[in-house]
Amino acid sequence: MRALRLLEWKSDPVLTEVPEPHAGRGEVVVRVGGAGVCHSDLHLAHDFEPGQLPWGPPFTLGHENAGWVHEVGEGVTGLAVGQPVAVYGPWGCGACPRCLAGIETYCENPAAAPVPGGGGGLGLDGGMAELLLVPAARHVLPLPEGLDPVTAAPLTDAGLTPYHAVRRSWPRLTPDATAMVIGIGGLGHMAVQILRATTAARIVAVDIRAESLTLARQLGADLALAPDEDAASAVREFTKGRGVDVVIDCVGNDSTLALGAAVGRSLGDLTIVGLGGGTLPVSFFSLPYEMSVQSVYWGSRPELIEVLELGARGLLHTQLTRFSLDEAPTAYRKLAQGELEGRAVVTP
Ligand code: NAD
Ligand code: ZN
Ligand code: ZN
Repeated sequence: MRALRLLEWKSDPVLTEVPEPHAGRGEVVVRVGGAGVCHSDLHLAHDFEPGQLPWGPPFTLGHENAGWVHEVGEGVTGLAVGQPVAVYGPWGCGACPRCLAGIETYCENPAAAPVPGGGGGLGLDGGMAELLLVPAARHVLPLPEGLDPVTAAPLTDAGLTPYHAVRRSWPRLTPDATAMVIGIGGLGHMAVQILRATTAARIVAVDIRAESLTLARQLGADLALAPDEDAASAVREFTKGRGVDVVIDCVGNDSTLALGAAVGRSLGDLTIVGLGGGTLPVSFFSLPYEMSVQSVYWGSRPELIEVLELGARGLLHTQLTRFSLDEAPTAYRKLAQGELEGRAVVTP
């Protein structure tokens, strides 16, 4: 079968021929219905040095996947061939306390995982191919009724990651609170809707692209603005001087982190989602008092079940553009050039 593969660091992925996978004991092969095109793949392909991660190319891209059960290995129960499923992407050891809690992103025994700190499309072969080998049946979640694999695929990362970020800040997102999402692309357009669906906070959206700001307003943002020199004062005014309780930064460069700190409210959260490589000075006076700053990586399996439920109930709309496997390189090019709205999904 054909697959879109990263063959070496600092290169563009290429379409090549690979053997079809088969399900061994405990494994499942998923026929891919959709594989999301994530900005992290661009970082992966171009920003990492050989040796920086505990894994590396060659592997098939695509860490945001849904499809249908194609083949089940010996010992796998409860899954039927043809059943629509989403794939929980972070693949840990399955036995440490974090994996048992379903937070396989933070597996504490990575040496016993299929690949340390990665998963399908991140060190192991991912979903940018007709078939995806999933090493353990627990990663395969049946889709709730009303959700098809193409729509569901982005929910497994572009949905799950901001869901995890928003969920951990729920206690701060009271009806009198304000949340701000920076970067209204694949993840950010989901973040706005997750805030809308799960909290009563006011929502501010920030993006450099006018089309993204229009999309943010359509999806429920109360204020949408560009990160220009007036942005901080406009946000302060919108919050009647109080500031933003929860900042979800889906860009993470120096200037977006500085904006988050500038508009943050005391006792608030600044959550770094984007891999923009920025840094934030921390000192007694550099942040609002008692503002917590955290980075987040993906989300947990129980949270994915909740996100799929939001999708099935129509509370989380995936703004998507479909690309065939042949067109996948074009999708990545458009993503790099900021020409996509919401998420691109490859349908092999
Ligand atoms: P995307 O390209 O779809 O969206 C990025 C958005 O940010 C675009 O709308 C773009 O116009 C906007 N933007 C760019 N620079 C900006 C700036 N200076 N100010 C405001 N807006 C700006 O990307 P995506 O797939 O949504 O990913 C977003 C980031 O999150 C990437 O860095 C990606 O690697 C990262 N990511 C992190 C995790 C995690 O677990 N932490 C998971 C997935 C993706
Ligand atoms: Zn991703
Ligand atoms: Zn583990």
